[in-house]
Amino acid sequence: MTSNTPIAFAGAPLDLAENLRSSGDLNTFLTADNARAFAMFHGKFLVKNGSLVQMHPSQIKGAHLYDPGPLFLGLDGNIPQFTFSLAKEDEALALVKGGALETLRDLADFMDARELALAGRAKSLFDWHRSHRFCSNCGAESKPQAGGVTRNCPTCDTDHFPRVNPVVIMLILDGDNCLLGRGPEWPEGAYSALAGFVSPGESLSEACIREVKEEANIDVENPIYKFSQPWPFPGQLMMGMFCTAKNTKITLDTKELADAKWFSKETVRGVFAGTDNAFIRPPEFTIAHQLVKAWLEE
Ligand SMILES: [Zn+2]
Repeated sequence: MTSNTPIAFAGAPLDLAENLRSSGDLNTFLTADNARAFAMFHGKFLVKNGSLVQMHPSQIKGAHLYDPGPLFLGLDGNIPQFTFSLAKEDEALALVKGGALETLRDLADFMDARELALAGRAKSLFDWHRSHRFCSNCGAESKPQAGGVTRNCPTCDTDHFPRVNPVVIMLILDGDNCLLGRGPEWPEGAYSALAGFVSPGESLSEACIREVKEEANIDVENPIYKFSQPWPFPGQLMMGMFCTAKNTKITLDTKELADAKWFSKETVRGVFAGTDNAFIRPPEFTIAHQLVKAWLEE
């Protein structure tokens, strides 16, 4: 990977300030004159002209907020950066004139990379709070702590940490050809790299080899890690890899894939340049797009 490969949702400008999250620290940050916060409602972001609407946290006083209340994302230089999720749509829209609520998927096509990374971290954390309100050890209601980056169970004192689920996503290569597939629910003609969750007890390499075998019945070797992407839908870490095919006859697992094909580098180059319509390429903000691009640039 080249150092300037743009990976959407990565590259947040934040110091996560893991050691500055006592209640005293958080109160100081929340009331600092330069503190900033942006708003969400049901997983959507309050934006104006395609940018997050930043305001002082005091502007949300009196609004109905979802757990965990103001969420401290970290320090952007010396600026404390918060976010919060409002429970009422009208209260969210009232925060700014001319604002709109947009999904992260819609924003990902054009939002500034720095803002996209902040929004991705916010979305992953709120999604985790929403789905982990109750202690997985004893079932009691857990409480957010440390500014919303962990939860604690007051009944059994178990600490809970946000989940990040590792996924391998791989470009399968055979000389100057690569294998791309399409999921059963995807738009007709859309092809991308194969992917799958890493299972407990597996290395990334083992997960890569197993997934390709399961989905396309191709044996691969020499998995090479290239780069990764935090994927906030809701909390995956996509581990981008290249691997080499030992055989090329595709047998599909039709539960996983509607189709898979070998494409020549020439064809893929044409599709990415917009001069060939052999398939619909994965969107630029996906790691699949960046993996294919890295292969074309080799
Ligand atoms: Zn508990």
